[in-house]
Formats: sequence, C-alpha cells, structure tokens
Amino acid sequence: MTQVYNFSSGPAMLPVEVLRRAEQELCNWHGLGTSVMEISHRSKEFLAVAEQSEQDLRDLLKVPDNYKVLFCHGGARAQFAALPLNLLGDKTSADYIDGGYWAHSAIKEAQKYCTPNVIDVQTTAGGLRAIKPMSEWQLSADAAYVHYCPNETIDGVAIDETPDFADSVVIGDFSSTILSRPIDVSRFGVIYAGAQKNVGPAGLTLAIVREDLLGHARKEVPSILDYTVLAENGSMFNTPPTFAWYLSGLVFKWLKEQGGLVEMEKRNQAKAELLYGTIDSSDFYRNQVAPANRSKMNVPFQLADAALDKVFLSEAEAAGLQALKGHRVVGGMRASIYNAMPLAGVQALTDFMVDFERRHG
Ligand code: PMP
Repeated sequence: MTQVYNFSSGPAMLPVEVLRRAEQELCNWHGLGTSVMEISHRSKEFLAVAEQSEQDLRDLLKVPDNYKVLFCHGGARAQFAALPLNLLGDKTSADYIDGGYWAHSAIKEAQKYCTPNVIDVQTTAGGLRAIKPMSEWQLSADAAYVHYCPNETIDGVAIDETPDFADSVVIGDFSSTILSRPIDVSRFGVIYAGAQKNVGPAGLTLAIVREDLLGHARKEVPSILDYTVLAENGSMFNTPPTFAWYLSGLVFKWLKEQGGLVEMEKRNQAKAELLYGTIDSSDFYRNQVAPANRSKMNVPFQLADAALDKVFLSEAEAAGLQALKGHRVVGGMRASIYNAMPLAGVQALTDFMVDFERRHG
C-alpha cells in the first residue's frame, strides 16, 4: 500500500506538510536543543508561538477587533457548560436550536444551569432530512442567547445560512466546520470549536468571544471555564495544551499558504460534489439528507444492502481508505473530508465505490 487516506471524524487527518515540519523540529525546536513540548508556556519562545497563532487565526477568520480569541481546554463539551455559566447573566433561559446529535448534547448539558427553550428545526424535504430555514426559527424574547450547531458531525447535516437575528446573541458550535470556509464572525456572540477535526490535535478548544459578553459570568463558574479569567490571562490561567497549540499554529500557517479560507471553500466544495455526485448517481449508495442541508465536511452514506457493510469496510481498509465506519447512532458509512483531505483522497474513495458496486451490485 503506498498511500493511506484517513476519513476519521476526529481526531482527524492533519496536513502532511505540517506533520513533516513538526517531525523535523521535534527534538530541537528553534535551536533550543529541546522540543516545544518541554518549554515553559510562559517562556518568550512559547509566547511568540501563542501570539503568532492567534494573529494567523484572526487573519484567516477576519476576526473583528472587539472579539477575544481564547485557547481553551476540555473540548467542545466543556463549552456546553461554559456557555450558560458565562452568558446567562440574570436570565434563566436560552434558546437552543435542536438540529441533530451535538445540538442535542449541548441542550442536555445546559439543562444543569438553565431552562433551555428547545426549538426543534428538523423537518423533511422530499423524504430526506432537512432543517427549517432560519426565517422560521421562533426565537423567544427573553432568551439570554441562541445556540446552534452549523455542522452536525454525526448526522452529516449542515446549516450554512448566515444568522441574522437582530439583537440576539448567537452562539455557534463550529467544531466540525471551522476554517472550512469564510464566515462572518460579527454575526456571532461566541464561536467555539474543538480542535481535533479541522484545526489540530485534540486537547485544544477555540472560543472566539465578543468582548461585551465578558464580565457576566455566574460566581460559581469554575475559573478555568470563565471567559473573563481566560481573556485576562492570555489563555494561560492554567497550563495550556502547548503542543496542540503549537501544532494548530502550524496548521494556520499552512492554511494561509494554501490561499486561506476562500481557497479552502473551493476545495471543500469540489470534494463534496465529487462524493455526493457518486452517491446520487447510483441506487447502490444513498445519503438521507436534503441537498440544501448536506454537510461538506461529514458525508454519511448507506449501502442499499446493509449486509455488505462489513465487506465494504474491510475492502476499503485494504485499499488504504481508513475509518469509514459510520457513527453507531447512524450506522452505515461516513467519510469525513476536512481541509487536510486532498481531492485525490476523495477521488480514491469514489473510484473504490464505483468498483465495489461493479463487483457487488
Ligand atoms: N460538537 C460537535 C459538532 C462535535 O462534532 C463534537 C465532537 N465530535 C463535539 C461537540 C464534542 O467535542 P469534544 O469531544 O471536543 O468535547
């Protein structure tokens, strides 16, 4: 086998150029005779990494000046708790858009801290799973914020519309779609994302927080989840995951070299079209999501004959196409095709799918 393509949903594939660079400088980083993992997070060398990576991320996402970029711990799930603890203020309710597995998980966590007003936006279109347009979302007047997940990693369902809800504070769980295309950060109060899909290694979580939302945390918020404490301490209230932070910084540089998020969106569009096109052009494969809500990052698909699932997966693995098994709640297959997956990887997958159908169809 010469080339392996990893379709894991996360931790996921990283750009090979980034891994090579990290490999080259692993044992002797910047001539220090030690690795970046072994130096103090407060050393001037690491502070330079922190500063540069934040600037590169700001450049890529065009983050306005009135937002703090926080490099946090605890994955996106820690943010499920951090959000109500930081943002409820004296309110007791927040709007939660229920569009799939992860939005639902955020609701369950929020129930510990408030009464989420759950807005079910799931519907069907032509017998396929779909999401109601934002114009039909019935937000409540007294909600502290509205939370939604623009890309449901497990369901393969995306909400690509740009939110425009007057004065509502909009929160987006961008864990599986951040950096895959340009977004208008100014429409959001908080954008957050676990790193392990489209940013870098697991362990780091990004939170981009509008400054006027700081300073309202409940007094019982654990300091490590308090956005104000994190902002005041440059995301170094405790020891940050320095290696994940450094490696994510290399990914940001790589993204800039590739042409930034406009270029990424083009590439991601081309990969998604190729894969969905292959699924749609045969009765042997199917995807259950309406075209307008199909995720360009996570593509679940089923075989018409589920009895062939195991053979598909083992033959795919033997052909160097890894981690295609669907999540246990959805079954079938799922191909995660984040920024680091080249078009050649999706081409190899679709070639395999066509050949598999020829042999087993
Ligand atoms: N939200 C989304 C959209 C996710 O895909 C995931 C992880 N798959 C999570 C939240 C939970 O992330 P973590 O494991 O980093 O807590």
